[in-house]
Amino acid sequence: MSGDSVHTKRTACRLCDCPDFDVAFGLEPTPPANAYLKSSELGVAERCFPLDLYVCRRCHHAQLLDIVDPSVMFRHYAYVSGTSPVFVRHLQDLRDEVLGRCLNKTPFMVEIGSNDGTLLQLFRDKGIKVLGVEPAENLAAFANENGRPTRNDFFNSDTADAVKAENGTGAHIICANNVLAHIDPLQDVFAGIKRLLDKDGLCVWEVSYLVDVVEKGLFDTIYHEHVSYHSVGPTIGFLKNAGLELFAAQRISTQGGSIRFFVQHAGGPYPLDKSVQELLSYEKKLGLETLEPFKALAARIAASSKALCDKIAEAKAAGKRVAGYGAPAKVTTMMHHFHLGAADIEYLADENPLKQGLYTPGKHVPIVDVAPIFENPPDYVVIFAWNFARSIVETRRAFVDNGGRFLIPLPSLLEVNRENIDHYLATTRN
Ligand SMILES: [Zn+2]
Repeated sequence: MSGDSVHTKRTACRLCDCPDFDVAFGLEPTPPANAYLKSSELGVAERCFPLDLYVCRRCHHAQLLDIVDPSVMFRHYAYVSGTSPVFVRHLQDLRDEVLGRCLNKTPFMVEIGSNDGTLLQLFRDKGIKVLGVEPAENLAAFANENGRPTRNDFFNSDTADAVKAENGTGAHIICANNVLAHIDPLQDVFAGIKRLLDKDGLCVWEVSYLVDVVEKGLFDTIYHEHVSYHSVGPTIGFLKNAGLELFAAQRISTQGGSIRFFVQHAGGPYPLDKSVQELLSYEKKLGLETLEPFKALAARIAASSKALCDKIAEAKAAGKRVAGYGAPAKVTTMMHHFHLGAADIEYLADENPLKQGLYTPGKHVPIVDVAPIFENPPDYVVIFAWNFARSIVETRRAFVDNGGRFLIPLPSLLEVNRENIDHYLATTRN
């Protein structure tokens, strides 16, 4: 490690400790993507940190080496999972899948990074004993106030020991949704999972899948909070070193494309599913052990950037107004890498009330309610939450019916207007 108290640079692979890397994809430096600002903070200097994606030369794990202190990023966190009905449905499916597989019929369930406790509540609804571990103080407090028992802490081997001691039993189910890609000391997390997991327990974790990042051009999921971009190949060896075993893997649609890993103790009771070998073969076919897919991705992103920036410049030159829809964390990566700012995008409309009234990190684009899009409509609205583009176009089609045009920046620039909206909705799946 080198650096200062806020920014450090890893010198060894997060999974296998190898010190040798290749740069897979260089992105423009940004502030932390979720460091939204209040108006009173706009005059305070923000730090930008390098944002380059590296690949380990030994295990081929794709990762960031520039680490921003998690206490800077995660102690107050604006994302609340319970706010999205689509995501709640996804969590119900996850719960049913896990309960269908779990061999223990009176399980104790622990969730790592339990957010507002939405998944805990879904398990509680089935009469299951649960405990969340959540580092964000505001979310842990919210969960506890709503009867979803939550420990306000980072998950590591010490936390695992404490949870086991306090509950008098290991966990039969450990869930970790969209959280393990955020954790730098991943070896210690899996040491904790190994110690906390009961002998017939299963651990299920979901993360963005590197294959989807590469295939769909999801480069904007790369930001400092996501320090790992997981794939099956490096994960098998990593788990083996931790005394664990990957016994099944499923591709799922969340976050634009994710993977659900099923893990047990090495030699545990769950049969090895063929999905592991199938996905491993697919990754090899894609060339994920080489730099070629990343070079192709960089070229595609450069083309998307040029198309969107040209379109916005053309609209601005014609006196048109351009706003944005959605202020997800990924907007920070895209705006910095595409060199877009408040001069290009008047405001971002976002349904999340926790984000309304704030400004985007670095670029200081104001975030407002969605109402202005209809009450005083701009000419163009860029859908920055582009992985939800279809449902946004469908629910907000009044904007298009009134003459507005949506711009969907990725996977390649698409304009949705009065002429093509019906065709778009009929032929597009989210
Ligand atoms: Zn490695």
